[in-house]
Amino acid sequence: MKRVYNFSPGPSMLPLPVLEKAAAEMADANGSGQSVMEMSHRSKDFKPIIERTETLLRELMKIPPNYRVLFLQGGASLQFAMIPLNLAGVEAGAPKKKITLVDTGIWAKKAADEAAKYAGVDIAASSKDKAYTYIPAPPPAAADSAYYHITWNNTIVGTKWPAIPDTGAVPLVTDLSSGILSEPIDVSRFALVYAGAQKNLGPAGTTVVIIREDLLNGAPSWVPAMLRYDIHAKEASMYNTPPCYGIYIIGLVLEWLRNQGGVEAIAAVNREKAALLYDYLETSAMFFSPVEKNSRSLMNIPFVPRESDPDKKAAIEKRFVTEAAAAGLVNLAGHRLVGGMRASIYNAMPLEGVKALLAFMEKFEG
Ligand SMILES: *Cc1c(COP(=O)(O)O)cnc(C)c1O
Repeated sequence: MKRVYNFSPGPSMLPLPVLEKAAAEMADANGSGQSVMEMSHRSKDFKPIIERTETLLRELMKIPPNYRVLFLQGGASLQFAMIPLNLAGVEAGAPKKKITLVDTGIWAKKAADEAAKYAGVDIAASSKDKAYTYIPAPPPAAADSAYYHITWNNTIVGTKWPAIPDTGAVPLVTDLSSGILSEPIDVSRFALVYAGAQKNLGPAGTTVVIIREDLLNGAPSWVPAMLRYDIHAKEASMYNTPPCYGIYIIGLVLEWLRNQGGVEAIAAVNREKAALLYDYLETSAMFFSPVEKNSRSLMNIPFVPRESDPDKKAAIEKRFVTEAAAAGLVNLAGHRLVGGMRASIYNAMPLEGVKALLAFMEKFEG
């Protein structure tokens, strides 16, 4: 069997033991004589699977009891609409509510653009002036803001909030797609946390929403049933057929994570992995990290050639990505809008994978 080290930003690597367990259970899960894909979502066979996934997530993230966990579809991108609809939506004809958002990159901008269809968006701060290479100081939220939105880990530019901002009584919402379970995060500081699964949780197709109960019932009457948190919560994520297989794989990933020692243990490994790359980039004559030190991501590490001539720079990038792939280190090209290179090193990327990348970079640099 051939396995590469996959540095993709998402969908991304899954732990091998998870894939092996899923393969072993493919045709007969838990003695049911069926695969999880073939089970009725309302059956006695599937119920323990979704319940176990939720229990493990609650345990690993220390989710307080007054929060609901929802397994939805539509990716993080659908949350860009669902959040304003449910938290800031108004009945037809009523004046729009206001929301506050900090613009830290492409995903934050998308969340802002979508929210602007339903609410007045106040961009409280932006790091666009320096190509999003830092997290701006968070201004206080206006007291009449329906919620305050931040993008915790910015997958494309490789930044992460250095601390959770204090927004007082204004509900704090975060896109945690590429940061979930990478390090301990105090869920109780947030009103709503959401994450597409395909970065650090499992396969694409499932979105996890963790929402404080008092925010469930804010959607105006015209919001479609499938976009309402109240309905998904009331039906325990079974208003319609949930993404059953994705929920099952997330459960296996969470079980694997618990076997690694949980979030604190994986965070220590993640810090070690990231430090190897950042330390190298500090002294490399060929590459550097464009991100300010106090804003650096643990999960997505962009690096760019120091070469300033655009043609020579592009040639280095092309040769790097091609030769790395030939060495079994794949998906290292930076985002199409940003360029350069980027190593995404989520929980499932082993320390050995980062060491292999480092050895390759040192050799490449010569
Ligand atoms: C990947 C990503 C998204 C988009 O997720 P989809 O599930 O494809 O909609 C949004 N936000 C962040 C931070 C991401 O990393």
